[in-house]
Amino acid sequence: MTEKLYDQDSHLRQFEARVLRCEKAGGRWAVVLDRTAFFPEGGGQSADTGTLGGVPVLDVSIREGTVTHFLASPLPEGETVTGVLDWEKRFRRMQNHSGEHLLSGLVHREYGYRNVGFHLADGDVTVDFDGELDREQLDALETEANRAIAENVPVTCWYPSEEELQRLEYRSKLELTENVRLVRIRGCDLCACCAPHVSHTGEIGSLRILDYMRHRGGVRLHLLCGLDALEDARMRYRATLAISGLLSVPQPETPEAVRRVLKELEETKYALADARRRYLRLRAEAIPETEGNLCFFEPELDAESLRELVNAGMEKAGGLCAALSGADGDWKYVVGSRSIDLRAAAKELNSALRGRGGGRPEMIQGSFAAGRAEIEAFLGSFRRG
Ligand SMILES: [Zn+2]
Repeated sequence: MTEKLYDQDSHLRQFEARVLRCEKAGGRWAVVLDRTAFFPEGGGQSADTGTLGGVPVLDVSIREGTVTHFLASPLPEGETVTGVLDWEKRFRRMQNHSGEHLLSGLVHREYGYRNVGFHLADGDVTVDFDGELDREQLDALETEANRAIAENVPVTCWYPSEEELQRLEYRSKLELTENVRLVRIRGCDLCACCAPHVSHTGEIGSLRILDYMRHRGGVRLHLLCGLDALEDARMRYRATLAISGLLSVPQPETPEAVRRVLKELEETKYALADARRRYLRLRAEAIPETEGNLCFFEPELDAESLRELVNAGMEKAGGLCAALSGADGDWKYVVGSRSIDLRAAAKELNSALRGRGGGRPEMIQGSFAAGRAEIEAFLGSFRRG
């Protein structure tokens, strides 16, 4: 059994320990110490990282009370090494994890709902409850949690005796009776958990519920605490600040300003579509009757408008009618004809103008990589059959 220094002092970030075993395990080295401050994965919290004797610790696991550290290179058995935790990472996890206990305790106390899912990733914490909560209730819970943080109440962790455990009412996901470790946030929560926690709620800093959604008959929350919450708030603040600058309105007025811009955009789209329809009508009326081919270059038109133009033009052309939009190197084309089988001609056109595409005998579409002058010359004199 490894002596669990993280159980005795969750704030220990450097320690000395003796290397009991060091064995090759796959491409890594499995190191067992007489004692450790490295928390192995458990209770929804990931394994600590850091260094042992200067060698990076890649992963930590626990089995039957023995903690194994996985390292990239070996350590000498029997020697004393210094362990250093990546404290910033661990502290943020403790802030988030203790914050999650606090909120779950309050939800349980106020609504009787149970925490049925918990995931603590760096920068994202999700908690699932087996009952629904709305925005107003969540706001009240968030305020309550931050009040408890400001009151800086003690957080204590201990292994109760079996008799004590029988007497206590605590939250737990598993029906454990042996080696149960309890975490109490005074006045807010009592819960079974094996992970290291802050020692006073003030260390949590702040708790923010960022998002919520219905989930399996209950609710799933995304929350962040402490430094992670601060960074998240900063990121959101910068986003709002940028939008406020772009729209030249004070930050609280950005939602209304964005709504206004979207409405204007919608109106502009309708106006543009209307103008395009009128342009096409005039353009089609102006197409001259010809025995030969017609070729129109319309850099700004979309595919649907090109088709409309070709539909009008193929009635007036004895040969084919082509309409193209784009620029040299990539012209989108639509070609129509009442007299030429274009499905058969497509191969010839595409090969001459470095294009691709096809369609029906009376209309084909695709793109040409050739330049405007080349396309104009080729299509203008195209004959078939
Ligand atoms: Zn926990």
